[in-house]
Amino acid sequence: MIKYFYRDGEETKYKVFPSDNPKSKRMFSHIACWQCNGTAHLPHYAHIDNGVCYTCKGHGAHRAQVWTKEQVEKLLEKDKIKNEKFLKDQEDRKEEILAAQEKRKEEEKIAEEKRLAEIEDKFAKQEYIGSIGDKIELEVKVVFSKTFDGYYGQSTIYSLEDNKGNSLVYWQSGYGKFPTMEKKEKDGTLLFYSPPKGEKFLIKATVKDHNVYENNFGKTKQTVLARPKNIQDVDKQHWQDIGTWK
Ligand SMILES: [Zn+2]
Repeated sequence: MIKYFYRDGEETKYKVFPSDNPKSKRMFSHIACWQCNGTAHLPHYAHIDNGVCYTCKGHGAHRAQVWTKEQVEKLLEKDKIKNEKFLKDQEDRKEEILAAQEKRKEEEKIAEEKRLAEIEDKFAKQEYIGSIGDKIELEVKVVFSKTFDGYYGQSTIYSLEDNKGNSLVYWQSGYGKFPTMEKKEKDGTLLFYSPPKGEKFLIKATVKDHNVYENNFGKTKQTVLARPKNIQDVDKQHWQDIGTWK
């Protein structure tokens, strides 16, 4: 009786049969299911469908092509040659591969150094506004505002910018109220609404702190404000005079 083998050289213990296609000379057998190890059952899934293995649908085995000893030895020999050729090729190109890796590493290092230098350069050009405790009056632009839900309730952060691009920040407890825009309706009702990004204000505030905000993309000198007041309507003349945005 002829012995048949799987592609890896292991002999099949199962019955061997020809292909369904009468023109094909290929031979088939079965191979134990890798999921249930040929048992067709998965004990840890006993509570579902009595633990029938879904991978082999309870057959315990899968169909697999098989070869005679002579055929499989030829295939394995081909694999060996192919593998040796691959290894030799890798060995021959070792210098080239290493050089390419080195070059890439060096390029990445240069790019990272450049990125960090740019961050430092930008940081050096930034300025804190006023001294801590100062009462200041200045024009600001809204970069963003965001309301967070925290342990003590809501708080809103306002990220602002002066006309030189220096960063200011104000934390407010509760939903964002500052800076508000006012709009008087025809019937006299006063409406307040939060400003969109880019909106400009003239404010009075106290400088509470100077700190550095840092993340993966850069670092920023921040002037932290306390008790800011939008004085746009308090001193309209001043507001108009100050319109110096670039
Ligand atoms: Zn199975």
